[in-house]
Amino acid sequence: MRVRRESNGQVLDLGSASALGVGGEARIQAVPQAPQLVAKLYRQPTIERAQKLQVMLANPPEDPMAAQGHCSIAWPVDRLLSLDGTWRVVGFLMPRVGDVRPVIDFYNPKSRRQTCPLFNYLYLHRAARNVAAGVRALHVRGYVIGDVNESNILVAETALATLVDTDSFQVATEGGQLYRCPVGKPEFTPPELQGKVFSRVDRTLESDLFGLGVLLFQLLLEGTHPFSGVYQGRGDPPPLEARISAAHFPFASRGRVPYAPMPVAPPFEVPAPALQALFRQCFEDGHASPQARPDAQTWLNALNEAENALTTCAANEQHRYGNHLAACPWCERAARFGRDPFPSRQAVERGEHLQAGAPAQRPLPPAGQGVRPAPRTRQPAQPQRVAQPANPLAWLAAALALFACAPAARLYAAPAALLLGVLGWRGARRVGGRGLWLARGSVALSTAMTAVALVGLGRAKLPLSRGSGGPSPSRVALSLPANPQRGATFTNSNDAAAMLYIPPGEFTMGSREGEAPAEPNEKPQRKVNLDGYWIYKREVTVAQYRKFCQATGRDMPEAPSWGWKDDHPIVNVSWDDAKAYADWAGVALPTEAQWEKAVRGTDGREYPWGNEWNNTKCANSEGSMDLNSTQPVGSYASGISPYGVHDMAGNVWEWCSDWYGSSYYANAPKDNPTGPANGSDRVLRGGSWIINDPTRFRCAGRDRYGPGDRDVYSGFRCALSRPDSG
Ligand SMILES: [Zn+2]
Repeated sequence: MRVRRESNGQVLDLGSASALGVGGEARIQAVPQAPQLVAKLYRQPTIERAQKLQVMLANPPEDPMAAQGHCSIAWPVDRLLSLDGTWRVVGFLMPRVGDVRPVIDFYNPKSRRQTCPLFNYLYLHRAARNVAAGVRALHVRGYVIGDVNESNILVAETALATLVDTDSFQVATEGGQLYRCPVGKPEFTPPELQGKVFSRVDRTLESDLFGLGVLLFQLLLEGTHPFSGVYQGRGDPPPLEARISAAHFPFASRGRVPYAPMPVAPPFEVPAPALQALFRQCFEDGHASPQARPDAQTWLNALNEAENALTTCAANEQHRYGNHLAACPWCERAARFGRDPFPSRQAVERGEHLQAGAPAQRPLPPAGQGVRPAPRTRQPAQPQRVAQPANPLAWLAAALALFACAPAARLYAAPAALLLGVLGWRGARRVGGRGLWLARGSVALSTAMTAVALVGLGRAKLPLSRGSGGPSPSRVALSLPANPQRGATFTNSNDAAAMLYIPPGEFTMGSREGEAPAEPNEKPQRKVNLDGYWIYKREVTVAQYRKFCQATGRDMPEAPSWGWKDDHPIVNVSWDDAKAYADWAGVALPTEAQWEKAVRGTDGREYPWGNEWNNTKCANSEGSMDLNSTQPVGSYASGISPYGVHDMAGNVWEWCSDWYGSSYYANAPKDNPTGPANGSDRVLRGGSWIINDPTRFRCAGRDRYGPGDRDVYSGFRCALSRPDSG
């Protein structure tokens, strides 16, 4: 495509340039004639957009980092005109910002560990300051960001920040005309605008200041949202929007709030006291009176002072913490969670920060999950010192009860053990001692076995898997079609999940040498041969997982901010949870190879639907998609894999059965690989609704997470190898 720069008439040929990003409303292209700039080209140019750009060009904010040669605000620098004779404004030029990532990559401890492990608490303060400085520069000129959120703020490894997506800002003209910001994310939206239609309300500087407060809180408290907390009330925890509307800030100084702080979050006392006071001012005082929220300059001053008051830990020079604290909070968290939030340089050089440590203490489960108390058992009385002859009936009952544990013997042995046990109990009551306990135990056991046998008579029920011993229950329970062909479907009777058949044969796994966005862990590319298998057509849903919890007496995980929706994928489940579900459903988690073949077929394609990124084909937050939550499973029919599997890009990252091995592909077997024999992390695949980087949705992309870790971005689907295969 050829366009003309409005300021100097230069014709730019963008036809050969590759798209740097593609969204629903516009695409970003490199500009070969001006490498320091990028072009944003609208799909549907409008007069209003052209006018808004003109106002912005005429009155740019003063970039606080201009002297350092950094661009803090990706402001438009020129309009681009169509060459089709209409002279329409089809887009604009803006500075190109290199080597930056979304701010979430730095405040989220997991992604920070993987992408920038030396970005310590000092850097987080500095990034917070730079964000506040950018917001201040905009507010001075009367611009309102409107859609403050973690994906519109990019940060470099030097902690310099850049505000992007500036053409969505709210812009006012001197004549009083207002170009509104039509978008926003609920978790960054102040109480007074919750539930409003953004395109119909005027934003204020104060509404930005709420979003700024949320972002700064996340930067300084390891990604914790200020309104997250463990719900103490009845029923499902309300979503973040409702908590914001209700002023339920868990650290409010006045009044009672039905939320306890998140057990995995750093204590509220970790940021400097002056910052704690500003957070309360923002979320507590600022609830009723938005004018009470601290402005960007106030944050800037307080962050500056807090940064100067940081001290260095004696045990690890990467640990920086406020001198108002008696001890290093990061040492405490490293010991508690087994992972150092700010690993030392030496640990990073040795690659230890990517391995799971040995937690000194089991990590606390996330909020809402609660530790299930161990069943209360009455201590048996001390056996009498004088040895009592064990009641022979009780011994016999016990032996029979144990015999009844074998399924085949259950029907006859269990009632007999029950009878003998009752007799033995009666006899033992007189003699006491070991015989009494033996008899009671055998009565209990044989009663249970009788019940199981009777239930088993009523209906052939799938037994729960009891670990690795014995045949997989699925092998006997699911009667799969005998000679399935590609595309055959089957419904798992245990959870009503639809399964698709993937025929046996070779496929291309991994990424080629030299392939641009591919990571080293995806190489070498190789041919892998798999036996035929079945895979879930969709991700396991909330409704399916709830059924599993009810059947097995588990608690549902903590609900995400958007609440539990039956047809959405389950989230907040660890690998262990997913494995337990698969066992219960008589299936398994897919191996990494099974997952990859199901998503890309045999032609080595880049995305499930082909080789070109398209953000309308999966649940993602790239460009205009900007999702706030997971989506109902199977919502993106145009983005299915060659075998017809849904949501393999986006929606949620999915657990695979394999341990993660970064160099596993180099020596993995060609046939039916199942991953390294051991490891510290399990494999996750597929990208998540929150991600806005197209490369993270590639079929070959690999992610990993500790087997006990869980978040609102990850879920799973199940698979089943053919019983007659291999
Ligand atoms: Zn420390």
